[in-house]
Amino acid sequence: MEDCIFCKIVNKDIPSEIIHETDHFLAFLNINPNNYGHTLIIPKKHADNIYELDEKSSSTLGYEISFISKIIKSAMNADGINVIMNNDKAAGQAVFHQHTHIIPRYLNDGFEHWEPKKYEYEGQIKEIAEKIRTSMLS
Ligand code: 5GP
Ligand code: ZN
Repeated sequence: MEDCIFCKIVNKDIPSEIIHETDHFLAFLNINPNNYGHTLIIPKKHADNIYELDEKSSSTLGYEISFISKIIKSAMNADGINVIMNNDKAAGQAVFHQHTHIIPRYLNDGFEHWEPKKYEYEGQIKEIAEKIRTSMLS
């Protein structure tokens, strides 16, 4: 897609530090890492976000995430790995070519996790589950 920075990386029009390439995916280092070794996995075929991934890409993404996570954890001597995908502006997406962040984590590296929300009334969890199940059927 024209004007997409990650399509340009796929097409090698702009440089990146590629660490793995398959027929469907490219994994390369983030230019602004949260920790060193922070990697992005992208489908070669443009899709704005998770909702638009084609069947082949979505069904094989899990394997690629697992494969790259193991490599990054070992190569960077990480204590853990966060797998993060931001979809839409509200979720923090800045580049609109679907990508998965593989972030090496270290004990005491200082990143804090989000505070969980509390349910506000009894039965709310059941209501939400029912809402989601119903929307799946329609
Ligand atoms: P988002 O917030 O959309 O999930 O994250 C986009 C990520 O892409 C950011 O972490 C940013 O550092 C990374 N990024 C943006 N432009 C480039 C680029 O030209 N090269 C590389 N390697 N990473 C990029
Ligand atoms: Zn693109």
